[in-house]
Amino acid sequence: MFCADTCKLCGACITGCPFTDMTASQAKEEIVQFVRSRRSDAVMKNCAGCGYCNTICPTQSGPADLRREIRLTRIAQTGASCLSLMREDVPENIMTVGLKHNREEKETALKIYMNPPQSEAAFYLGCAISYIYTDLTKTKLLDELPVLGGMKYCCGGYIRNMFGDEEAKIWGQRLFQAFRDLGLKKLIAFCPECMQMLKKVYPELVPGFDLEVQSIAEYLLEKKRMGKIAFSHPLNKRITLQDSCAFRSMPGDVYETPRKLLELLGARVVEMKHNRRKSWCCGVPLAVVNPAAADRIAEKRVAEAVAAGAEAIAVSCSGCFALTKKASQSHLEVFNLFELVQIAIGENPPHRIKEEMSQMANNFIQAISADPDLLKKRYRIEKGELKELYFK
Ligand code: SF4
Ligand code: SF4
Repeated sequence: MFCADTCKLCGACITGCPFTDMTASQAKEEIVQFVRSRRSDAVMKNCAGCGYCNTICPTQSGPADLRREIRLTRIAQTGASCLSLMREDVPENIMTVGLKHNREEKETALKIYMNPPQSEAAFYLGCAISYIYTDLTKTKLLDELPVLGGMKYCCGGYIRNMFGDEEAKIWGQRLFQAFRDLGLKKLIAFCPECMQMLKKVYPELVPGFDLEVQSIAEYLLEKKRMGKIAFSHPLNKRITLQDSCAFRSMPGDVYETPRKLLELLGARVVEMKHNRRKSWCCGVPLAVVNPAAADRIAEKRVAEAVAAGAEAIAVSCSGCFALTKKASQSHLEVFNLFELVQIAIGENPPHRIKEEMSQMANNFIQAISADPDLLKKRYRIEKGELKELYFK
């Protein structure tokens, strides 16, 4: 929560924000207005909610939390875009748009992920890998346990980001009951935001939420240490990591685990200037609402990767594939860390990221052409129910 009492109105949070591009004197004026009247179009339009400014505030006043509080108040008044709601009862959202490409193949897999057998442990895909980057699941590395995915089992991160903790709690209670019904005691999660919800947020919000949650990187590292997996095809590349913004609030070895794993895969890890807790966002949260700002940050990240001497960028969050376009202009490939493990065990993952992203863009344009009012559709979630639909 933002603390106005400790904030010195120094503006360091805005000057340091990689999205806003303001001078120190402009930032000082802006922060006074932002804190006192809770208004700043410059901040709100360019803010990706990445949390970086919380890490550089000299008084730990939580400037990113102020932005989040203001956004929650706005969404309570105006509702949220249908595209950002990962719910099965919202017919057109970013996941259903993703599903339109290779539909038959994806729907067949989804049926399995949404109806897993009873088990004490399962792989937990999250939404983006269930609907968009489904290629990641084509591997023998997932043979050992059932795989869980689809919007039915969405982690609810978007609910917390847009409708606040009370609504997230309701979703968390339902989700926990669904996990219990399946007999689950442990989940191995692919997405850092899912990890954050399952491992940090829900245990604080939902009484009794006591699942064991492991990241896919931790799981693979453990397998390697137990001698149950062999990396027979070393990567032999200089690779840098795009650390997920969701890691910032998480305890433990979230930054070192993927680095250790990459080294075991035969990569040489090189670091971007902004890394670990002070990593910069990839820009994907602004991809629809402010694509120019999203492009600018992607360019800055790729420039840091090039300066580090990287030959490839590894991401843990599939959203960070957003770096792909700018990276390819600098002859860099972007891989999910899990794909790199597949390569190191001798598999040949399809890696159709560029195709998937360009199909997403086409599907998006088609969805808007079919319904020009699509982006004006607004929804609220109240007490767990999709409540209101109106046009702005
Ligand atoms: S939130 Fe922190 S960095 Fe921002 S103006 Fe206040 S004290 Fe300075
Ligand atoms: S949360 Fe991130 S994008 Fe938003 S103001 Fe802070 S640093 Fe900038």
